[in-house]
Parts: sequence; structure tokens; C-alpha cells
Amino acid sequence: MTLDTPVQFLKGVGPARAEALAELQVRTAGDLVEYFPRDWVFMPEPIPIARMEAGKKVSLMGLIESTDYHPHRRKPVFEIMLADGTGYCRVLWFHGGYLVNQLEPGRHLLVHGTVSRYKHMLQLTNPRFMILEGPRADAAEPFSGPVYPASGKLPAWRIKKIIRTNLALLAPLMPELFVPAFLKKNQLIGRAEAYAAIHNPADEKQLARAKRRLKYDELFLMQAGLALKRYHLRHTTPAPEIKIDEHIDRRIRKRFPFLLTDDQNQVIAEICGDLARRIPMNRLLQGDVGSGKTVVALYAALAAVANKRQTVIMAPTEILARQHYDSIERFLKGSRVRRELITGGITGGKRQALLGRVADGQVDIVVGTVALLQSDIQFADLGLVIIDEQHKFGVHQRATLRKGSNPHCLVMTATPIPRTLAMTVFGDLDVSTIRHCPPGRGEVITRWVQPHHRDAAMEFIRQRLRAGRQAYFVYPRIDADTENDDSDLKAAVDEYRRLKERVFVEFRVGLLHGQMTAEEKRRTMEAFRSGELNVLVSTVVIEVGVDVPNATMMVIENANRFGLAQLHQLRGRIGRGQNKSYCFLFAETEDSEAVSRLEMMTRSRDGFEIAEHDLRLRGPGELFSTRQHGLPDLKLANIIDDFDLLNLARRDAFALIAADPMLSRPDAAALRSELIRRFGDALGLVDVG
Ligand code: ADP
Ligand code: MG
Repeated sequence: MTLDTPVQFLKGVGPARAEALAELQVRTAGDLVEYFPRDWVFMPEPIPIARMEAGKKVSLMGLIESTDYHPHRRKPVFEIMLADGTGYCRVLWFHGGYLVNQLEPGRHLLVHGTVSRYKHMLQLTNPRFMILEGPRADAAEPFSGPVYPASGKLPAWRIKKIIRTNLALLAPLMPELFVPAFLKKNQLIGRAEAYAAIHNPADEKQLARAKRRLKYDELFLMQAGLALKRYHLRHTTPAPEIKIDEHIDRRIRKRFPFLLTDDQNQVIAEICGDLARRIPMNRLLQGDVGSGKTVVALYAALAAVANKRQTVIMAPTEILARQHYDSIERFLKGSRVRRELITGGITGGKRQALLGRVADGQVDIVVGTVALLQSDIQFADLGLVIIDEQHKFGVHQRATLRKGSNPHCLVMTATPIPRTLAMTVFGDLDVSTIRHCPPGRGEVITRWVQPHHRDAAMEFIRQRLRAGRQAYFVYPRIDADTENDDSDLKAAVDEYRRLKERVFVEFRVGLLHGQMTAEEKRRTMEAFRSGELNVLVSTVVIEVGVDVPNATMMVIENANRFGLAQLHQLRGRIGRGQNKSYCFLFAETEDSEAVSRLEMMTRSRDGFEIAEHDLRLRGPGELFSTRQHGLPDLKLANIIDDFDLLNLARRDAFALIAADPMLSRPDAAALRSELIRRFGDALGLVDVG
């Protein structure tokens, strides 16, 4: 038997069960050994009721003497009296209404839980239980041990039986990946031993050791994959050298009418260090909206230009591309640097001519949307690719760009990436961070406004509008009728009319939503930027919007419906000028997660703090799926809870790949085939051997 043997040929599995297993993604012997329990129960032998003690985990076996259900208490409770001849024990289940017809007097019952004391009685609360046919002594076995995720066709106990029957043959098939000295150093047990123990642990200690080893493997293999990807990217095709000397540095800085912040200088030093080498840069630049990333990007672009290389800057939307272009224009006024904005609006012969000049090297800096990547654009000598991903972070796009030449690559994002994610899904990138915004930004005050304070908030806004400030009103949906359950959502369109015709009659109110054409959006934004509009009502399209320092107020309607990251992004639109800004979160909710988000927003303006909180609230899976980034799924490990192990695995994996990048040493053979098994040939390992 090998790991590739179809499950059908295993003991206890025929064609029908093989089919049921396939639905659980278990097709081979290898899949079966890696079908991990979702839980483990360690149930001690039942003891006499008379011997139980408070605080101990016990199993009891006895007869149900009486039952009682109290549905009308604040917490409904179902309780029974269990007797075994040595004594009585009260056992209760909160919200146990579903048990009324199951646990009837006269039945034999096995329960397992922690003993607690209530008044002067010992009792069990919410224990696991099993109804027994009769007073059997070996009854504990059925729900002791691993608990497998089951399907309708294949119950957990059947899966357990199949695995247990075959385990002695299967576990030893899992090859050891590491040499004994390495295992010893990291205090890891053997791999085959770990697989055997995870499915059939003798006790909790052994289970913990097995879990640690297998989690380490998962994390190590992931990190080794990232290290290899990174190695190949860096060592296959060299990138152009872009050197910066004092003279160039001075000339670039002269373009900015301000001094760069410490953070900007630090990040620029990191970028210049990369550019000066022939190893292609693969760097993520993260910093809140308005922290000054674009200025850093322009610095890098001008460094490339000084080295006679072209730069392309890409944004997710036309509005943003244009905004980048406009701010570049502002800084480059009167310079000889040749820059062009390529939009979808430029078509036909004009577009051909423009692309022709890019291909001939007559344009130094090209600005456009990410759609440029899919088009037929060719460069004479592309030195640097800058992608502003804002918060729609997509890694695949980078890959498509590297066809042919190997330019340096800088990805900008306004989504703060917690360290755990920076080490995993983005683990093949180097990360630079701008933490502090440039000076001269006003304070932002955030308030969660309950319905009865709305009018006061509106009056406050009216006062400020009179004083010449501007305000955003953000709504989750354009049209309330599109989704029935959300019919209570305030439609932006309706609200626009209401604000315009009734609330802010003396002011000019504009509307922006996703179904307007690019040109309509641009005109509306322009009117708001120039101050022609006082109030801008909008769906979330302004998220990827604009820099209007005079807009110092924002109302987010139904704020409980937005995620933390989005709320933070939205709020980033205000507080951009010197004046104090105000963010009002209109929300009526008792949902504890929504409350937690709203409170976080009123408490913090630090994007990293907010992102960490978000990650904890939602878990890593929802924010960034690993699979979406071409990484294998983690089955046992969790990048938040196992952060220390992740750190260890990452250090080990990167050290190993640095020492043996092709994994060609005999010691690494098993690891190499395991990586190929998991990643396929995506890592460039396959052709080498
Ligand atoms: P981001 O791209 O991170 O959103 P930008 O680079 O667009 O931020 O900068 C936001 C605003 O701050 C722009 O108006 C920019 O001119 C200004 N700015 C950037 N760096 C500085 C600085 N060091 N000092 C003062 N203002 C700055
Ligand atoms: Mg920007």
C-alpha cells in the first residue's frame, strides 16, 4: 500500500463507502490519514456518584429517576436526577428543551462533565451524554477518543472505525521530513508517530505532542513554499539596477513642497536598497489612506526615470488612476519627465499612438488602471511596476505582469496587514510600513449616534456646513428594494432626495453611486472637490475616492452593517486637512459583534490596531483565504493561535531554503517530494530533480 492507494482498497471500505468518503475529499490512503478529527474526548471510566468531587471531570452512569423542565426561567433549563445506588446527582442542561422527549425516567444514562457545587449539592451542568441500552460497564468507549467531521452518508463513528482499522498500516507510510537532530532541537515527535497519535491518542499529553508536530509541519511546508517562490522570483531573471546617489536624491526631493516624514524616509531607504540590486524587488508598502504612500511611489518612479527606466503606476479604478496622475502632475510641473495617463476613454488611433510611444521608450511614467495589464501594452525598458491596490488586494495580478522582463515591483495598500497575515498569505513579500501620517492633520472625533441623538447630530452638521465645511453621507446600498430582508436599509437615492429637499435645503447636495458612468462620477467628485457641492451623498464608491481636505464630516448610515476595515477606510476620507473632523456612526443594533466594531471605531484611529481587532473578530479565513493565494489550507494550525509556532516554522523554513534552495541535499529528499505533492510544480522544484 502507498499513500496514493485509493481508499476503496482499504479494509472496511467498499465502493459505496469510497464514494461517501470522496464527498469528504478523501480519495486516497494519504487523504484518509490526513482526515483529522475535529475534536477529542477523553472520558475516564465511570465512577460511583458517591465518589464525585467538585471541580473534577467525571463520567457517571446511572438511572434517570425523575426529570423536570422549566421553560419560563430567564434561562430555560432541563434537569434530571440520576441515581446509581451509591447516591443521587442533579444533572442540568440550559436551553435543554430538546431533551424532554429523549431523557425519560427509567432510562440508563452515561454523562461526562465537570462537577460543580450549587448551594450544598454537587451537580453536572451541560455534560455530554449517551443513552445506554442497559447498565453496561464498557459503555464509555463509544464516545471516547477522536470525533470526526461526518456527513449524512458516513457517520462519525464509522469514519473512526475505518481509520482505526487501517491506522497501523497507514501512519508508518507518512515519511519523516526532518533529520533526528532537527526534531530534537525543536522538540518535535516523529511524523508517523504523530499521525498515529492524532487519530488515537493515549492521553491529552500525547495528543498535544501530536498536534504540535503536525501543526509545525503544516506551517513549515507553507513557509517553505513561500521561501521557494521568493527564491525563484529573485534568482531566475535579474531586474535592472536602479541606483540613487545624493545628486539624484536631492533633485527628487526638490519636487516636494514639504519635508518627507521619518516614516517616508525609512521606507524610501528600504525601497532604494532593493532597487539598487539586480534581484527584483517584491515589496508591499502599507499605510493608511493619506499617510503619504503616493509620494513615496513617486520618489521610486523618479529614481527609475533618473536611471533611464520606465515606470508604470496602476490603480484599481479610473478615478484613482486620475487622482494619482493629477497629484504627479502637481509635483512634476515644469519637469522634463514624460508622463501619460492611459484611460479607457482613450481609444482608436490615439490609443495606438500612445502605446507606440510607450513601446518606443518615449514615455517615462505611465499611469493607468489595472486593466492595462490585460491589454497589449509593451514597454521599451520597464524598470518599476507600482500597483496601488488600495484595499482590494489581489496577488495574482503581480504575476501576470512579469512576463518577459523582470521589473521591480512595489504594491501599495491602504489595508493594514496584521503581522500574522504578512507572514503567511503575503509571506513572500517584503513589507514596508508607514505608521504615522504627515503632520498638520486635524483630529478626528468618532461618535456612535443612537436614534434619539440623530437630530442633534444633524443640527451640528448644519452649523458646520454654514461655516463652510463639507460633509459625506454614506449609505450601504443604492436601492432598498433589491433585497427584501434589507428593505429597512436607507436607500442612498431616497436619502439624497430627503436631504436635498427637506433637511439641507439651503445647501447643495450631490449624489454618487456605483451605477453612474465614470464621467458622471468624475464630474460629481470634481464638483464636491471644488466646493460647488456642500454635501455628497454616496454609496460606498467614495471608499476608493478622493482627497478633499475641506470635507470634515462624515455620516455613515447603518454603520453596523459595515465591516471594520470598511468603516476605517471610509473614515479615512475625512481628517485630511487641518480642521477637526467628525465621523458619526448612525446605528441601532444589539448584535454583539457589531457593537464591538462600533466601539472599536470610536476608540481607535490606528489602522493596525483596528485590523488586528478585525482579524480576531472574524478569524483569518474570512479576511484572506489562504487558498485564494495559492497556499495549501491549514487543517490543524491557526495563524493567530499558533503564532509562536508559525514564527519558528518560518525561521526554520527560510533558513533551510537559503542553505539549500533546490532541496537537492539527500537529507531534504522527503521534504522535497512532500512539497511537490502539495504545491504541484508551482515552486519550480519538479524540473530540477
Ligand atoms: P496616500 O497615497 O498614502 O493616500 P498621499 O501620498 O496621497 O497618501 O498623501 C496624502 C496627502 O498628504 C497628499 O496631499 C500629499 O501631498 C500630502 N503629503 C504627503 N507626504 C507629506 C509630507 N511629508 N508632508 C506633508 N504633506 C504630505
Ligand atoms: Mg493615495
